[in-house]
Amino acid sequence: MKQIFNFSAGPAVLPKAVLQRAQAEMLDWHGSGMSVMEMSHRGKEFTSILEKTEADFRTLLNIPRQYKVLFLQGGAIAENAIIPLNLLNGKSADYVVTGAWSKRSVEDARAYGDIRIAASSESTGFTEVPAFESWQLNKDAAYVHICTNETINGVEFAGNQDLVLPDTHGVPIVADMSSHILSRKIDVTRYGVIYGGAQKNIGPAGLCIVVVHEDLLNQASALTPAVFSWKTQAENQSMINTPPTYSIYIAGLVFEWLLAQGGVAAIEQQNIAKANLLYNYLDSSDFYYNNIQVANRSRMNIPFRLRNEQLNDAFLKGAEAQGLLQLKGHRMVGGMRASIYNAMPIEGVKALIAYMTDFAQQHG
Ligand code: PMP
Repeated sequence: MKQIFNFSAGPAVLPKAVLQRAQAEMLDWHGSGMSVMEMSHRGKEFTSILEKTEADFRTLLNIPRQYKVLFLQGGAIAENAIIPLNLLNGKSADYVVTGAWSKRSVEDARAYGDIRIAASSESTGFTEVPAFESWQLNKDAAYVHICTNETINGVEFAGNQDLVLPDTHGVPIVADMSSHILSRKIDVTRYGVIYGGAQKNIGPAGLCIVVVHEDLLNQASALTPAVFSWKTQAENQSMINTPPTYSIYIAGLVFEWLLAQGGVAAIEQQNIAKANLLYNYLDSSDFYYNNIQVANRSRMNIPFRLRNEQLNDAFLKGAEAQGLLQLKGHRMVGGMRASIYNAMPIEGVKALIAYMTDFAQQHG
């Protein structure tokens, strides 16, 4: 079979070893005689899967016990409404707009209360995170919302070690980490809430993980649906409804795989190497370019353009013929985008660069 590298932004490539394990366990999970899809979510088998999945996730991100880990549905877009419902409590909230996803968060949250834009890089075309000095933060806000990695625009909060965050004077930070969670070390204690849809670095779509400090569980609006009440879900092991059991199971396999790779610190080194390879190539090219401020370039989602956009279709067609899939940029921004999540091996990035080099030689 031809070697395929899938650069989709999500749902995205999963580790082959995980898919093979799921295949092997598909019909009969650990001698239970059942597929995970057929199990009661309250039975002992699935309970053991959920407990192990949560424990491994906590280990990977070093999550203190004061934080609850919730396995919810609705995805990150649902959280745009669920967050203000759970946290606003009659106050205002500050949002920082760094790309298409945080902009969408503002639009969705506005129905629920006083949502203020503390800073925005829209006027630059979303090529950077606005300088912290320009953020107009309100010390009485219920929370500050950020998206630490903008999947569409390819903008990530800066930081060589941990992500660099501004001082919010005690106002909790709520971070959409959908597209870079588990790709790098983070200090969970600097956030009130971390959330992300699963379909990039975690597993299949249908699952949304929310990590929330227990101090933030008592301010939900009475209108919050029970399935979206973090407090209710925290008190019920995310089982007030039927959770997305198969997605949770695959997430658990991904976490085991990640631990076997050496955990987040080890995968982060690989992610840095992969991203450097591609950015260095783009910067050395006069055929392709990426225009994101260097400090805010995403390690996970790398948009790039051909200087001659008339070659876009030929570029994509040729890439597909080489087994380099889903490189088309998001329809909002055009161009190309290579998403290189944890499960993308460095060989995929090398194959992409080899193809790009060939294509530039032929058409340059
Ligand atoms: N936020 C970010 C950063 C995303 O990348 C995405 C999906 N690509 C979303 C939110 C929306 O996620 P979903 O469609 O799962 O609700």
